[in-house]
Amino acid sequence: GLAAFPDGTHRRVPPMALGSPADWKMIIDGQEVEASGGGWTEVRSPATGELAGRVPTGSSEDVDRAVGAARAAFDDRRWRGLWLPERVAIMERLADLIEENLPELVALEVAQTGTAFKFRRDNDMPFAADNLRQMASAARHLDGKAASEYSTDHTSMIRREPIGVCGQITPWNYPFAMAVWKIGPALAAGNTVVLKPASRTPLTTMRLGLLALEAGVPPGVLNVVTGPGAEVGAAIAGHDDVDLVSLTGDSETGKRISALAAGNLKRVHLELGGKAPFIVYADADLEAAARGAVAGGFINAGQDCTAATRLYVERVVYEPVLERVSALAGSVRVGHPESLATDMGSLISREQVERVDGFVQRARQSGARVLCGGRPAVVDGLEDGAFYEPTLLADVAQEAECVQLEIFGPVMVALPFDTEEEVLAAANDSRYGLASSVWTTDVFKSMRAAKALDFGTVWVNDHIPISSDMPHGGFKQSGAGKDMSDYSFDEYTRIKHVMVELTGAAEKDWHYQVFGDVPDTE
Ligand code: NAD
Repeated sequence: GLAAFPDGTHRRVPPMALGSPADWKMIIDGQEVEASGGGWTEVRSPATGELAGRVPTGSSEDVDRAVGAARAAFDDRRWRGLWLPERVAIMERLADLIEENLPELVALEVAQTGTAFKFRRDNDMPFAADNLRQMASAARHLDGKAASEYSTDHTSMIRREPIGVCGQITPWNYPFAMAVWKIGPALAAGNTVVLKPASRTPLTTMRLGLLALEAGVPPGVLNVVTGPGAEVGAAIAGHDDVDLVSLTGDSETGKRISALAAGNLKRVHLELGGKAPFIVYADADLEAAARGAVAGGFINAGQDCTAATRLYVERVVYEPVLERVSALAGSVRVGHPESLATDMGSLISREQVERVDGFVQRARQSGARVLCGGRPAVVDGLEDGAFYEPTLLADVAQEAECVQLEIFGPVMVALPFDTEEEVLAAANDSRYGLASSVWTTDVFKSMRAAKALDFGTVWVNDHIPISSDMPHGGFKQSGAGKDMSDYSFDEYTRIKHVMVELTGAAEKDWHYQVFGDVPDTE
């Protein structure tokens, strides 16, 4: 229910309160286990400093154990060999369990990320159940070329098969949703998994692992290991007995993982950084664009790979649009994550606040106009919290680091433009290629932008919405591969061509090319 909060706002007490912070063990072969080294890592709220829980400090030895369990579970077919309706039902049961346990999951996610309660309750976490159901249904609709005689005397058919052991590594910004986006297609396709959450935000993933066991996922099929990325993540990426590694994380981490994966040429699936352009033409509904920019830019405190970060506004409406965006940004309430009146909670850490502020101060020094925000935010009673003010920087150069690099905080930069050609080129002038949007009432302009923009997603007159049935993933240094939808499912499968000879003849008319005389063609 709702309880009054000291600042007069209301706080929703999750029906299943966190209680005392728990120790969460790793899950290997269906067992809850401690790290082989015996160590524990604390997880604290970056907003309040409160202890949210502890997880084992795993090592490469634990990765070996988990990969061994996943390999055994793959080889004895205890998951891919299940009757398909049963496998689908288990995944659907897991989706149901996610919904049933949402209050606890949301409380854990808020505690470990410091993000606003209403955001977690109503955004990515309830959506995760639908993401999983979509994947369960994909297992029933295997896609491929129809069996037929593509060569006259053979019937060819396609088998779509699981790949094997999938190593999956997730980031801290959407910890639970990213874990679901990873295990969904991997499990639906019949693979087994070793999953590693980000060290700052492992708790909801630990709970997900337990819920999977409760749903009936057999032991060894979904293993969860915790520990530092540089050791545990790297051990997964480099492991010779892992067949696919997938990462959602920073582009630099993606490069390291690709290099490690080369050892056994495992398949690599990468969802990396972004720096989304947000193009506003003068003919757009400017109020819709301004609201869209604030919602799209400050979602999850800007710690979203698709966040609207680069506002390109046609010069004739540049000042009025920026004025409206900064007025709306100024209305974003930064506060205690658990208050329902909080729009924006904390960033992930104090270090992230310093990193974000570094970008802002360097931009300020090189002449950017700071239209709003521009410094760490102070929240009463939470003076040590990792808060930052929603910030809009104007008049920055296209080459500036704040335009070219991912800041991953509540900071938008704005640049004016004069022509369509110029803005499309500027939007594409980025190492990233994840998401973009264009705001216009001219259908021709919108379609030309959809064609020209070099990004995995192009929104027209919106920014952020996604669907379980449509792919999410980037181009260029934003990665390779898709999350969600049948496209993601396909990437967790391998395709086998089976070719069956139909005549039964021992001697074929092409054998002479290898042995025997050239047939008389007279
Ligand atoms: P990160 O790259 O620092 O960490 C991601 C994961 O990789 C963590 O689990 C971490 O422990 C692990 N890791 C770190 N170093 C490693 C190494 N050397 N070897 C193996 N694993 C290692 O990223 P982050 O800071 O947690 O997340 C933010 C990033 O994620 C941003 O760049 C954001 O854009 C990106 N992201 C992308 C998407 C997408 O779908 N494209 C979605 C969410 C977040």
